[in-house]
Amino acid sequence: MIRRFLNKVFGPKKSRRSGKLHTLTASQHSLRPQAISPCALRVIKTLQENGFQAYVVGGAVRDLLLQHSPKDFDVATNATPEQIRRLIRRSRIIGRRFQIIHVPCHDEIVEVTTFRGHAPHDHHSQTDEHGRLTRDNVFGTLEEDSARRDFTANALFYDPVHNLLLDYFSGAEDIAARRLVMIGDPVHRFREDPVRLLRAIRFSAKLGFTLDPTLIAPLHDLGDLLAPIPESRLFDELLKLLLSGQARTCLELLRQFGLHRHILPHLDALQSNPDHARFITRALNDTDERLQARKTVSPGFLLAALFWPSVHTLWQARQAQGEPLYPALFGAMETVLDAQRKTLPIPHRFDGTMKEIWGLQPRFEQRNGQRPFRLLENPRFRAGYDFLLLRSASGDVTPELGVWWQTFQDADSDTRTSLLVQETRKPRSRRRRSP
Ligand code: ATP
Ligand code: MG
Repeated sequence: MIRRFLNKVFGPKKSRRSGKLHTLTASQHSLRPQAISPCALRVIKTLQENGFQAYVVGGAVRDLLLQHSPKDFDVATNATPEQIRRLIRRSRIIGRRFQIIHVPCHDEIVEVTTFRGHAPHDHHSQTDEHGRLTRDNVFGTLEEDSARRDFTANALFYDPVHNLLLDYFSGAEDIAARRLVMIGDPVHRFREDPVRLLRAIRFSAKLGFTLDPTLIAPLHDLGDLLAPIPESRLFDELLKLLLSGQARTCLELLRQFGLHRHILPHLDALQSNPDHARFITRALNDTDERLQARKTVSPGFLLAALFWPSVHTLWQARQAQGEPLYPALFGAMETVLDAQRKTLPIPHRFDGTMKEIWGLQPRFEQRNGQRPFRLLENPRFRAGYDFLLLRSASGDVTPELGVWWQTFQDADSDTRTSLLVQETRKPRSRRRRSP
């Protein structure tokens, strides 16, 4: 009995990777076929009628079990891309290395993938010296496809035709307990694909899941593995974190594990200044609230906010040394973006927007003559004005400046002119406090 007890406590833990299939029937799960998009349902029926296995997989199943509405529906099948393409009209093959199929319907695209497996035998031929997967393009079985997914909550397969939920790794249980658990050994799986470190943060924040205790030490220790990851993939993941609807929690968790150092290293310097920290928190909260209200969010705007305290501090410092206002501002922008470039460059499609928003800020302080009228006509006025409001809400400029611009925008042309007259008589009040 004592041996059995010791074994239970200290013995080898059953790996979550050696999954045993649990098939949950209608009375054992909360999914209903009606919740699946008609397009995905049609694809699955067609494949099944032709003798193939086909399931809804990944995020959609997880989100439906959590009673969230899925972003999109992915389908996994044992049919090859060629077989899928022949069976489903309008479908097209995307990608070369591992082909996936896109099926466009009215307002959605269903992504269909063939089950992936592990190449046979020599594991080392598929990993580099860090243990990173270099090949992941071999077709496999349902079970293998399930085992190569990252977290148990992401490895569920739903068959809407027979209303069955297939679960190899107790994902349904982990979802019910709101637990993020890695399939297999976390260190090994993080080494295979270090982006999973960032995915762990995103899913934990976005779904409100607790991180399984086995993830904690690797999250602290393995951040350096992110260094060789292609910048485009890291930046995509950064955007997903920022647009997850829980950006604030994501950044807090990144900092908690030191992972921000590999994507947004400047956050360290900002944290020591309460005004800066408040500005960033405000921007993240506003973003999360907009997304919760199903409003759109501009990534360029949010990135402009994340770097503004650094730009603003440097701008003020350069002016204090006698540099004129605009050269000081543009110089500060370049210095801050250059520093970020050493870790993770911001792609041009975003840093252009950031510079435009920053570059407009001093123009909001000029409230006489023709300048405010010209600023209203600027195509970036709205973004610049929203940014001004963010600054005024966190004490970077006087709230009165935001109110003035609100009044000016809403007024007819006579009233606008009278606002200008008042402005020229009034002494300028500007707080020089940093954000
Ligand atoms: P979201 O709702 O945020 O899109 P998702 O779970 O659908 O979440 P995706 O990145 O779209 O996430 O990936 C779809 C599925 O593919 C995941 O649920 C997971 O099973 C698998 N997957 C994606 N990326 C990885 C990865 N890096 N390692 C292992 N499995 C992955
Ligand atoms: Mg997805």
